[in-house]
Amino acid sequence: MTMNNDIERVLYSEADIAAAAQRIGAQLAYDYAGKTPILLSVLKGAILWTVDVMRAMDEYAEIEFIDVSSYHGGVESAGSIELRTDLTTDVKGRDIIILEDIVDTGRTLKYMIELLEQRGAASIKVASLLDKKEGRVVEIDVDYIGFDVPNEFVVGYGLDYKDLYRNLPYVGVLKPEVYTAEDS
Ligand code: 5GP
Repeated sequence: MTMNNDIERVLYSEADIAAAAQRIGAQLAYDYAGKTPILLSVLKGAILWTVDVMRAMDEYAEIEFIDVSSYHGGVESAGSIELRTDLTTDVKGRDIIILEDIVDTGRTLKYMIELLEQRGAASIKVASLLDKKEGRVVEIDVDYIGFDVPNEFVVGYGLDYKDLYRNLPYVGVLKPEVYTAEDS
């Protein structure tokens, strides 16, 4: 059995995602011309999205990482946020573009935006591969969206189930039998 056999259906193919990364990278280059923003990648889920968007952005930019976790390996997003690894640069007066894999309840993003505001960022925008608008609990808007995703649990292209499936090149839905008894 391989990973691919665990997938019930593909929602966004490798080509769909590559086109979205190109589109958003080009838009960011246009919108941030002459500004040298910080691309703030949210670990671990946004790693593939980050490398594809940053390569498509022909403008000066710095790259930083933050590990903020609201979710502990299952299929439900938990309420509390934990800052596991902080970024290593001063954001005061800087333009920040948060690169996310998916925005669901919006809690993770709200936490990060408040943190960056407290630290004096000049501007904060969000570029997310997926926007799960139906899951929203707090009011948060995503500025650059790859795809509006239905309210289903998805994996692949950085997104995990129990830390697996991040290395799938596409985004898809798992077969129901893959979920272990403890999640149901
Ligand atoms: P939020 O704070 O917006 O509820 O949660 C965002 C985080 O929850 C994402 O960065 C991701 O780690 C996790 N998450 C939310 N929906 C999904 C999903 O459909 N699949 C996976 N793999 N993770 C998700």
